[in-house]
Amino acid sequence: MSDTQTPQTQSISKELLDILVCPLSKTKVVLSEDGTKLLCTDECTDPKCPKQYPIENGIPKMLVED
Ligand SMILES: [Zn+2]
Repeated sequence: MSDTQTPQTQSISKELLDILVCPLSKTKVVLSEDGTKLLCTDECTDPKCPKQYPIENGIPKMLVED
């Protein structure tokens, strides 16, 4: 297993990604292919969840309006 190469498009660190969860369902999120968004997985079933959160300047915007 080789996991040493980090794609140029990765906008947030793997360490940060590992601790981030969907604020609504508390399930894991994954980085989008272009690295500009965080996406919920199929495990997130909260109907109010937008299923994707933008990343701005390396900071995930995971606030959800009530
Ligand atoms: Zn979610």
